[in-house]
Amino acid sequence: MTVPIAKLSFWGVRGSTPTVDPATWRYGGNTPCLELMAPDGTQFILDCGTGLRMLGSRWAAPNGGRSQETHILVTHYHWDHIQGIPFFSPLYVENNEFHFYSFRSKFLGRDSLKQVFEAQMALPYFPVDMSAMNAKRKFKEVDGGDSFEVGENKITARWLNHPQGCLGFRIETPAGTVAYATDNEPGDAKLDQSLRELAAGADIFINDAQFTPEQLATTRKGWGHSSWLEGAKLARQAEAKTLVLFHHDPDSTDRMVDSILRQAREEFDSVFAASEGMVVTLGAPGDRVQAHMPGTRTTLRREAQFHAKVCGVTEGGKDFEEETIVRDISLQGALISLKHLPRLQSELQVTMEAPGADGVQAMNLRGYVVRIDAGAEKGLVAVGVVFTD
Ligand SMILES: [Zn+2]
Ligand SMILES: [Zn+2]
Repeated sequence: MTVPIAKLSFWGVRGSTPTVDPATWRYGGNTPCLELMAPDGTQFILDCGTGLRMLGSRWAAPNGGRSQETHILVTHYHWDHIQGIPFFSPLYVENNEFHFYSFRSKFLGRDSLKQVFEAQMALPYFPVDMSAMNAKRKFKEVDGGDSFEVGENKITARWLNHPQGCLGFRIETPAGTVAYATDNEPGDAKLDQSLRELAAGADIFINDAQFTPEQLATTRKGWGHSSWLEGAKLARQAEAKTLVLFHHDPDSTDRMVDSILRQAREEFDSVFAASEGMVVTLGAPGDRVQAHMPGTRTTLRREAQFHAKVCGVTEGGKDFEEETIVRDISLQGALISLKHLPRLQSELQVTMEAPGADGVQAMNLRGYVVRIDAGAEKGLVAVGVVFTD
């Protein structure tokens, strides 16, 4: 019997507006879009931010994952959750079929999401109108509290506390449960309870972490967002297994998200900061969840042999220091063999001896763990590092 596996891919993780600031490239600048491939082959897309365009372009590539029918759950109508729609190329292809799920907005009335499509592509906002979209589109209204099934998967929608409303979705697949709770602010007892129910026992709980706890208590109170600390508290209360910090503020640099992640890990054991290109596998044997970060986007990789001292934090949270030889390095990152198993998304200090014009020089680099593979060499793991300065 094969084990059911679900794959969750993060195509956009930034909140409010896309960013192209180089200080945000590591976590990524596209607005919310996630893809969940369920074990039965059902494809779900969660939100239609600018990350949707990237998903669409991969779709067109040969051997890109595709299924005839796709189920798209839209949490609400703020720009950052819908602005990828006109740029999603599979919508222009005749044989594709899309099922959209969203709520009836009191500002839009009947067929809210359909109206959003039309408005986005109305003159003079977009060069072609809706008639250019050849794919079949079906729209279904869902309300907070609704539950329905798609294939072998059960979806539950719940209201979250957010200006003009927002739905959170819980998707139970045979491989595990994902709770997606973007755009929500704590402080409304009834809706806080509904968030706890949404996240109860979830394998992956994705929560809004746009603001710092200080901002949330002062200048950003009432803006409809949450913090890493609220996410960690809720994950504990709901007994969620892994917390994913999501909807990063456009003004949060990678360094700031690193620091948010570090603090969150002191409050809750299993936390990731959502990063563009991150893929989480549910249901893999012997593991609760497995995460993969995007690898180094490198072309200038070369083989070398540098002696290096590496300091970091293990998966178990202990500091370590070890000496190794770096064999595969580029300007952006390196692949390093280690005896210790560092934590994914943790920081590594790499001190290398590099030959220079004036003899051997020590080079200090700070890196970030993006990838861990069981090493080809016995007793070692191959650790992918992206240098951050
Ligand atoms: Zn948003
Ligand atoms: Zn919003």
